[in-house]
Amino acid sequence: MDNRELFSKAANHAARFRDHVAEGPQRPRTDYAGALADFSETLPEGATPAETVLDDLVTRAEPGLHAMTGPRFFGWVIGGSHPMGVAADILTSAWGQNTGNHTATPAAAAVETIASRWLLELLGLPLSCSVGFVTGATVANFTCLAAARGEVLMQAGWDADALGLFGAPPISILIGDDAHTTVFSALQFLGLGHDRVVRIATDEQGRIKPDAFGEAIAGVAGPCIAILQAGQINTGHCDDFAQLIPMAKTKGAWVHVDGAFGLWAQASARRRHLTDGAALADSWATDGHKWLQTPYDCGYAIIRNELAHRRAMTIAASYLPFAREGERDPSHYVPELSRRARGFSTWAMIRHLGRSGIEALVDRCCDAAQRIATALASEPGIAIGNSVVLNQAIVRFGTDLPAEQADALTTETIAELQRVGRIFAGGATWRGRQIMRLSVSNYQTDMSEAEKAAEAIISAYRAVRHG
Ligand SMILES: *Cc1c(COP(=O)(O)O)cnc(C)c1O
Repeated sequence: MDNRELFSKAANHAARFRDHVAEGPQRPRTDYAGALADFSETLPEGATPAETVLDDLVTRAEPGLHAMTGPRFFGWVIGGSHPMGVAADILTSAWGQNTGNHTATPAAAAVETIASRWLLELLGLPLSCSVGFVTGATVANFTCLAAARGEVLMQAGWDADALGLFGAPPISILIGDDAHTTVFSALQFLGLGHDRVVRIATDEQGRIKPDAFGEAIAGVAGPCIAILQAGQINTGHCDDFAQLIPMAKTKGAWVHVDGAFGLWAQASARRRHLTDGAALADSWATDGHKWLQTPYDCGYAIIRNELAHRRAMTIAASYLPFAREGERDPSHYVPELSRRARGFSTWAMIRHLGRSGIEALVDRCCDAAQRIATALASEPGIAIGNSVVLNQAIVRFGTDLPAEQADALTTETIAELQRVGRIFAGGATWRGRQIMRLSVSNYQTDMSEAEKAAEAIISAYRAVRHG
């Protein structure tokens, strides 16, 4: 089988899968045990023709796939792997560029330089920031906080990148109580500890309380990193950057913003106010594979202080002068040396949608979330637990009953919704109570999908409540 046949066959499978993803039950047809059984065989001793392998892969994988790329998937903030990004990613794989340096792969390096500038413009960040193309917001948080750690200790006369943390001055780390778990993971990876932090109280939408932040900042002496958030994973709310960042700056803190999805509010004229002041921070983590709809894996570590960024990520670049214009090496801004050329799908998505298309996408998701929330709130016994300002809604069921019964009804409604499978949504706990979480983050979810989703949820609730 030649390349053309093999790649075409794969592309045909891909297109067929995507064309039908919104049909049928919105859940995998098999579970993990089933998928394990489907793939289970002993280590192959000999060769298998490519065509057979491809067919086997499709036959065995598809029952265990979730309709994550479809318009009816509301679990987590998942993005949509837009066909344009997928097409660019297919080429990225075929081209097989090891995106370590610009000499080896001028195109992969150059596309990152251009896509970086576009990202900064879209997100309203200083154009002089450096951008590392990483796997997602987890590693973006890690990369940004590595630069923060190095820089605040450097300011205190300690070279952490060379000497590590043994004997280093302690760093005060301030973080909101409703920060994403992956930020705590990043702190853990960096030797800063996920528990050795000052957790700042948050309000009912998960936003850091400015008074509590002010008190914590007042107590800071020495190196400090303050971690804020754009887009709380349940409520979609953002910290009050315009108020908090200047407070942190009075103590010379490095301010990091985890904006995995929420930073994209910047792309929308109607939502931009939510992230007012975010540009005052020192670093920002965000995802391509959420709101920009690139395929997995794709995220961006954005840092104001380019030298701190490079120092944290590479020994080779640590103390070298900046590369000359046009000589940006992609590996100087990320933890990895060898990696895929993530710039291509980012470039393709931004070029395809353009500024106005991205704005429309963000607004469409938010408007759909709002529509679902409004429809649900009109049903007796269903309540929305947050103010829906972005793409996230929290739903509680049986709110006319005692809280424990409402917890149980919420769990049962989610199970019923998943059993019927018209849409997919999952559960979480919020403020000690069971909730359903709705995340609208797919490019295909429009008003008509929003209405269908609300209907599906209401009918699952009625079935559970009234039999
Ligand atoms: C999704 C998310 C993360 C983690 O991002 P990954 O892309 O999954 O690594 C971090 N913070 C927030 C707020 C998120 O929504």
